[in-house]
Amino acid sequence: MRIESIELFHVRMPLKEPWRTAYGSDSAIETVLVRMQADGLEGWGESSPLAQPCYSPEYAGGVFAVVRDIFAPRLLGKTICSGEELQNELAIYKGNPFAKAALDTAWWDLHARSRGLPLYKALGGTNPVVRAGADFGVGDSEEQLIERVGDALSSGAPRIKLKFAPGWDLPVLRKVRSRFPEATIHIDCNSGYRLEDEGLFREIDELDLAMIEQPLRYDDIADHAALQSVLQTPICLDESINSVERTQQAIRLGACRWVNIKPGRVGGLTVALRIRALCEAAGIGCWVGGMLESALGAMHCAALATLPNFTYPADLFPTSRFYAVDLSTPEIAFSRPWEVELPEQPGVGARPDAERLKDWCVAKAVLR
Ligand code: MG
Repeated sequence: MRIESIELFHVRMPLKEPWRTAYGSDSAIETVLVRMQADGLEGWGESSPLAQPCYSPEYAGGVFAVVRDIFAPRLLGKTICSGEELQNELAIYKGNPFAKAALDTAWWDLHARSRGLPLYKALGGTNPVVRAGADFGVGDSEEQLIERVGDALSSGAPRIKLKFAPGWDLPVLRKVRSRFPEATIHIDCNSGYRLEDEGLFREIDELDLAMIEQPLRYDDIADHAALQSVLQTPICLDESINSVERTQQAIRLGACRWVNIKPGRVGGLTVALRIRALCEAAGIGCWVGGMLESALGAMHCAALATLPNFTYPADLFPTSRFYAVDLSTPEIAFSRPWEVELPEQPGVGARPDAERLKDWCVAKAVLR
């Protein structure tokens, strides 16, 4: 497919309520959408690195600029026949996985549409139903959290993920665990702690959690390996896994027993497929995370989650969980409780709504 045009949209999507984690609080999610045209078809990609470089070193304004000024011009006019070819074109540029993912995910939608396949089948998936889990941010009230967790469990949520941060940590977790002793629970620390906090994690080790997600620095492998060696509870790496090579290092050092794969954080679906395969070969389970993307980006994530070795429920949410209205359409809704069913139409199966894209757009660029 010869890439004829690339349009970019930096979009600000208002959340229903602020999303609080160990790295801060967001009242809106900033995301970058790509419309890529080739051979009379169009593909849409999305990458949602947040408004500020707090989750990772990338942020939406920076992703927009680097794609507009450097990455998209490199691809224009080129014939790109595989995700690997696209990644190879961009390989001279260091880092910037979210920026690469914006283009990579658009290419995959385009590719799936050109083959007349739903994206999940183009990626190699077979089962169109993905299980989703419940996710709770840092809050103000322990009582409210316990009520919400109880509601999720009684509606059949297969697992509970609690954001965990200094000031909202062990006492809250103990209360939730004692109230729901049988539930599958894990915590996501979003890099909020250091190896010196080993004592805290030894106490958490007594609480029979499914995993401890990204306890230490966003770019660390070695300290996580040291912490994993003294804990029974599996560590799951999220922020630290942003390339194939870092996955190989984490496996070699024994830094984790789970990997959360987000297409944006690793550089796109092409890289996500390679990380998935590495983990499977090493006996490390995977699950798909998200960055509160619009339904477009969420459907890219859901398609990935249909592949083998994604054995833990994904962070996939109905639109109504975080947004009054979704930027993209159709909005995400559970087909059955805590399940998302992938569409059978060609491509990713979601598009931005033209009016909302116009209204919420912060910056736009067209390259031909
Ligand atoms: Mg995480």
